[in-house]
Amino acid sequence: MWTSDPAQTPGNLTCPFCGLACDDLSVAPGPADAGLVLVNGCQTARGAFAGAMAAGPGTALIKGQPVSLEAALAHAAGLLAAARAPLFGGLVTDVNGMRAVLELADRCGALLDHVGADALFRNLLVLQDGGWMTATLTEVRNRADLILILGREVPHRFPRLCERVLLPPEALFSPPGERRLVLLGPAEPGPLPAEFAAANPTLIPVALADLAGVGALLRGLIAGRPVRADAIPGVAGAQLKQLAGWLCGARYAVVTWAAGELAFPHAELTVQAFVELVRDLNRTTRAAALPLAGTLGDLTANQVCTWQTGYPLRSGRQQGRSCYEPLLYRHQDLLAQGQSDLLLWVQALPAANPAATPAAKCPTIVLGYPGLACGRVPEVFIPVGLPGIDHPGHWYRTDAVCPLPLGQVRDLGLASVAGVIGKLSERLGATAE
Ligand code: SF4
Repeated sequence: MWTSDPAQTPGNLTCPFCGLACDDLSVAPGPADAGLVLVNGCQTARGAFAGAMAAGPGTALIKGQPVSLEAALAHAAGLLAAARAPLFGGLVTDVNGMRAVLELADRCGALLDHVGADALFRNLLVLQDGGWMTATLTEVRNRADLILILGREVPHRFPRLCERVLLPPEALFSPPGERRLVLLGPAEPGPLPAEFAAANPTLIPVALADLAGVGALLRGLIAGRPVRADAIPGVAGAQLKQLAGWLCGARYAVVTWAAGELAFPHAELTVQAFVELVRDLNRTTRAAALPLAGTLGDLTANQVCTWQTGYPLRSGRQQGRSCYEPLLYRHQDLLAQGQSDLLLWVQALPAANPAATPAAKCPTIVLGYPGLACGRVPEVFIPVGLPGIDHPGHWYRTDAVCPLPLGQVRDLGLASVAGVIGKLSERLGATAE
């Protein structure tokens, strides 16, 4: 049972800093009254945790000037009440925060988009189009004997994937020491992390933009069609033939990728090629896809939006009805085209590559973790606590099978996103009555 008393914090904390949501973290007092430090986890988590702990509680601001929280809430509620086409973006929050966002969106008639929705939709469009066969992290950990990794950034975006899933110390049905790792992606940049390199993976150099073509070639080879394996310049046909043989011979092949890395036009076609490959393999053996996501709560926001409204993100709540437009409701386009008259940006956790909030031309209300960089001085800034550090909550990891509990390690009196938005909803309700 979770307790909100920081002194009673249990040892197994869930990490909110990437989609793996490792649930084995623990904190301890740092040297020389430096506060709590993370004693395990990866370098990404330790850096993010230290940065969060170094920041104070922050202060509410109107046009960059410190004000009381009550004054900031009143001003923000006035802006929301006056808006005709509000956009709620960022959406980096936990389950309760997203539930509150949806309630407020319902009240205001707002459109919804996540900061990482470009990557989210590279997967979602494929899932919507034809479905997919995926595995949980536990299945991959215990059963995979061949792991095909697309791209080069997976080990960096999900730092403990190797340790916890791909090459764990032990597994139930597939000895980790006998697993075959294949990396299909750019030869550059730089060396692989040590634990990946130690597994002696097979590297097949392929430009990201050629991955879809390679996926199609592999499908042809697996089906025994008369394809030219060397049809893609710079990609070794002999290596593709060998890989096709390994895939057919594997008892449980897994294809994994981080959609965030596939940042080129129509990358969903690349995802689709390998989702279809997995489907083909299941005619004769067992295989699964493992799409890696969940960082910054993209899956959390999307799950909650889907179960509450029946539609995923890039949807809106207008006049009590949902409208879903994955191509029209991209927040970057709405802001660039001036189609929104108010932006509410929610970002309760820092990104690995800190990006400022969008410099929108319309008035902006930011609910952000203390220290968040804003692209332009917002009309209102309200500091919120980090889920997993300042308040407990729930969070979906990459395989989205169930929400994991987030803990709390300090109490600075920072309100959660759900708490702040709940107060805004109350004020809007009072205004409407
Ligand atoms: S791999 Fe991800 S979830 Fe695990 S400790 Fe590192 S940042 Fe946190």
